[in-house]
Amino acid sequence: MAPADITNEVKTSGLRGRGGAGFATGIKWSFIKRDAPGPKYVVVNADESEPGTAKDRYILENSPHMVVEGILIAAYAVGANQAWVYIRGEYDEPYRMLTEAIEEARAKGYIGPKPMGKDYPLDIRLYRGHGAYICGEETALLESLEGKRAQPRSRPPFPAVKGAWGRPTLLNNVETLATVPAIINMGGAAYAKLGTDKSPGTRLLTVSGNVRKPGVYEVEFGKTFRHVIMDLAGGPPEGRKVKVFWPGGSSAPVLPESMLDVTTDAEALAAARSMAGSGGVIVMDDTHCVVKAAHRLLQFYAYESCGKCTPCRIGQDWAVRTYERILANEGSQIELDTLQRVSDGLQNGRCLCGLGDSGGWVIDSTLRHFREEYEDHALRHECNVGKVMANA
Ligand code: SF4
Repeated sequence: MAPADITNEVKTSGLRGRGGAGFATGIKWSFIKRDAPGPKYVVVNADESEPGTAKDRYILENSPHMVVEGILIAAYAVGANQAWVYIRGEYDEPYRMLTEAIEEARAKGYIGPKPMGKDYPLDIRLYRGHGAYICGEETALLESLEGKRAQPRSRPPFPAVKGAWGRPTLLNNVETLATVPAIINMGGAAYAKLGTDKSPGTRLLTVSGNVRKPGVYEVEFGKTFRHVIMDLAGGPPEGRKVKVFWPGGSSAPVLPESMLDVTTDAEALAAARSMAGSGGVIVMDDTHCVVKAAHRLLQFYAYESCGKCTPCRIGQDWAVRTYERILANEGSQIELDTLQRVSDGLQNGRCLCGLGDSGGWVIDSTLRHFREEYEDHALRHECNVGKVMANA
């Protein structure tokens, strides 16, 4: 196939990035000027660090050849001769499996100076991360790949124009690229028939927390979270009820049990004021305190903040201190108002990257859906979970 035809097939499929942002993959590929002189790169984001998400690990451990094939197709389509896989440093087994798959591809002549006899030199190299959550953000990943401190870049310019080492770069997630061989095999139009009109296809959901069968499930877009959590993952333990779930990793705004019938596609989740994110479905039953869970997550975001912009560097830490006062029974209406103000200061473009929003969304969505629990803690100095447990 001609490179432009490959990109068109991916465009026709309607495939959207599976890393978090959900941008249309074929459109992203078409941003790279294939015939522009000089090197171009494909960079694979395998720095899967979002709490509650292990789908890329599953793919890399069980089917690394799909990823290699997806990389080769993408590199050929956008005119790149060099691909890099930035893989999470803690992922030993996925690293080993992918390294073997690349070596097998090299031995078979699928990559190298003349892949499959074609005069198109192509190579894949791996780079291991060093444990920073922020490297999942694409421009921080590029900084890290270049050997610099991992802090997000201001955009524009976007990586398609100025990415790795200042060159045009296609950045895609592992699952996104692993889906491409199937699209080329079955045709973009056939793939687009799966799922919903605006979110075609399937995706991997990692279901964790208070469910009987935690695991990675491939689900067609448009199924409800009730199906995913109750049918596929077996629902909560005997006698317990789902209280809250994160539909797209810890960064996605939470949804309460009453919204289990929301569907998994991006549009339905946006209407529910959440997002599809990384596909990490975290379930908590009624033995858990939402205020304590939000505090724990804010500790995580405060720790992982790279410190480059002030609202995130100061705001996440300020939220943690406010939660500490509330949980030490030193809270009042002032603390509740402070949390809302800090949350507003972290969202809607006030920070340089999505990590800032993530902390804000945790506060905002838990306050919106579980206001009474917050008031129990801050105003009445008691925990709602204690009442539930006493009645169990
Ligand atoms: Fe760094 Fe946070 Fe600003 Fe992102 S939002 S650039 S993580 S300080």
